[in-house]
Amino acid sequence: MPDLAPATSDLTSLPLADAASVNALRWQAVTQRDAKADGSFYYAVRTTGVVCRPSCPSRHARRENVLFYDTYNAALQAGYRPCKRCKPDQEGIAERQGQAVAYACQVIEHAANLPSLETLAELVGMSRYHFHRLFKAHMGITPKAYASAHRANKLRVQLAHGVTVTEAMYDAGFQSSGGFYATSSQLLGMTPGAYRSGGSGLQIRFGVGQCWLGAILVAATEHGICAITLGDDPVQLVRELQDRFAKAELIGGDARFEQWMATVIGVIEVHENSAAAQMLPLDVRGTAFQQQVWQALRAIPIGVRISYSELAQRIGQPAAVRAVASACAANTIAVLIPCHRVVRTDGSLSGYRWGVERKKALLQRENTAPGSKDD
Ligand SMILES: [Zn+2]
Repeated sequence: MPDLAPATSDLTSLPLADAASVNALRWQAVTQRDAKADGSFYYAVRTTGVVCRPSCPSRHARRENVLFYDTYNAALQAGYRPCKRCKPDQEGIAERQGQAVAYACQVIEHAANLPSLETLAELVGMSRYHFHRLFKAHMGITPKAYASAHRANKLRVQLAHGVTVTEAMYDAGFQSSGGFYATSSQLLGMTPGAYRSGGSGLQIRFGVGQCWLGAILVAATEHGICAITLGDDPVQLVRELQDRFAKAELIGGDARFEQWMATVIGVIEVHENSAAAQMLPLDVRGTAFQQQVWQALRAIPIGVRISYSELAQRIGQPAAVRAVASACAANTIAVLIPCHRVVRTDGSLSGYRWGVERKKALLQRENTAPGSKDD
């Protein structure tokens, strides 16, 4: 059982990079001749005047004689010459960038706490902005979304291996989440066995993570995504899923689910690739009327707000305004079925299942989104 000490920091605001910890990680990469770190930084040896890649097979110099440089050129300018064995002067830019991203992924995957963007950028010798762009270009999602997806995956793997929910969440890196601590005591004794009880034959895969709106849960049947929910506390989201599908078997994700989860988090984090969101299969169960309303919601583009009566007109039932509002409220797919884009006729925000503040934040962000015009 993890030590339930009070959380001291939030996952999204961990300490900024400090040179000592960056250098410690770099020295570790050098001593392990970690080829994944190649391209992310270079080290120079005072005594020999040579600059090397982290994976250089040469015998290691003593730590006190080693200096780290973000780029090969910086070491060159400082008067060092390229090592003849590891040839740091013969790397292409694309190779270096690919390696830098791969190295950052490794660091994210193995870090006990999610490193800050500053730390990651500094580790691979790039500016925050450049690193963020490069990472997204290579991986399709932001470093933070990647970390969320990785942690969620880790949690599911742990659950599948029969450890308790509390332990699994702790191991998956949720220990820094204040919300988790607040409710963790209620979780004691809740085991994956409880998840597997029931058994009406329906299998539901799920994952939880953190996004800019707070905790997020994504769940899917074999046919498609059946829930995207938002909240302050990932544990609470799991409980609600369990309540909603009391008879179902909740299991870990497979490769296809990972893909869906990554797409959902990517859409919510950067909300640029709404084309990918449109491709995601949804498994939403409701009356024919509800389905019709939800379908119409999906057709509302980013940056557009409509009223309930407008929505009622769109589905050809202009008198059914109240029923349309109820169908919106019954939506269980946050953001991807964008019920947040429906507002009162006077433009004011009505309620939102996942908190009116989240609705407000979503609409604000969509209005300022670069893709909102041509989406
Ligand atoms: Zn070398």
